[in-house]
Amino acid sequence: MSVNIAIAGPRGRMGSEAIKMVLNEATFNLVGCIDRKPSHISILVENNIPVFQHVEECFYSSDVDVLIDLTVAEASYDHIMMALQRNIRCVVGTTGFTNNQLQEIKKIAKQKNTGIIIAPNFAIGAILMMHFSKIAAKYFPDVEIIEKHHDEKIDAPSGTAVKTAEMIKTIRESKQQGHPDEIEVLEGARGAVEDGIHIHSLRLPGLVAHQEVIFGGEGQTLIIKHDSMNRKSFMEGIKYSVNQVLTIDHLVYGLENVLDLD
Ligand code: NAP
Repeated sequence: MSVNIAIAGPRGRMGSEAIKMVLNEATFNLVGCIDRKPSHISILVENNIPVFQHVEECFYSSDVDVLIDLTVAEASYDHIMMALQRNIRCVVGTTGFTNNQLQEIKKIAKQKNTGIIIAPNFAIGAILMMHFSKIAAKYFPDVEIIEKHHDEKIDAPSGTAVKTAEMIKTIRESKQQGHPDEIEVLEGARGAVEDGIHIHSLRLPGLVAHQEVIFGGEGQTLIIKHDSMNRKSFMEGIKYSVNQVLTIDHLVYGLENVLDLD
């Protein structure tokens, strides 16, 4: 069976990778893209893929099974609502939704019995890094996180670092790390702290998305490390999710909840 796909955000860094991924997948059929500006994207022209300025036009003109959205939360929320109303499934990589928006999406997906996967991180390696960190924390309660991103990233620490700390919190006893009388000679030297777990954020040109979770025990350290070298690293997770979303009828938040990790 071939899956008819529309992509929102085709000029973006993620969207342009998603176009290549969809065109290269034998069972996927790219039927249209949604771009708020009239655009001339050569790969779409070469493959006769229409570009629509409004999501309704796209859904009206093409038979879409799955919308892949890689834009900004404000636009994505409207795209998702339009899609769910028409029982079109969604795979969403866009970040920055509010809790209220997520609750509303969950409610409409349930009402319409329509599957949607929203994942702030589609890199399967990053999901495994968090999962392995949770396992390690059972045996190594002392842990610090270093996350490194490109210098265009606005938020710090990264959502993945915060999520990693939250997952570790579910498995280890709460504890304050380091010397009890520790003094920061320069403010911020020990990073941000989540339940005693220190998180250090680096922002440099040349980086994409990287994280190390460093565990310390008596006479040993354990480092669990993941690097996204480019945006291709997110495409396997998106591809996997397109196939998975066809089998569900509700909202799933987080790629870890569709992967078989046990
Ligand atoms: P990007 O290069 O800035 O691309 C964003 C795209 O969205 C652009 O084509 C932009 O068009 C479009 N857009 C912006 N505002 C819009 C609006 N109001 N209506 C319609 N389209 C709009 O960003 P990116 O790096 O591709 O990232 C896209 C999204 O994916 C972001 O939310 C990012 O945080 C997220 N992301 C997720 C993952 C993951 O694994 N889930 C990984 C990386 C990034 P204009 O040029 O017209 O503004």
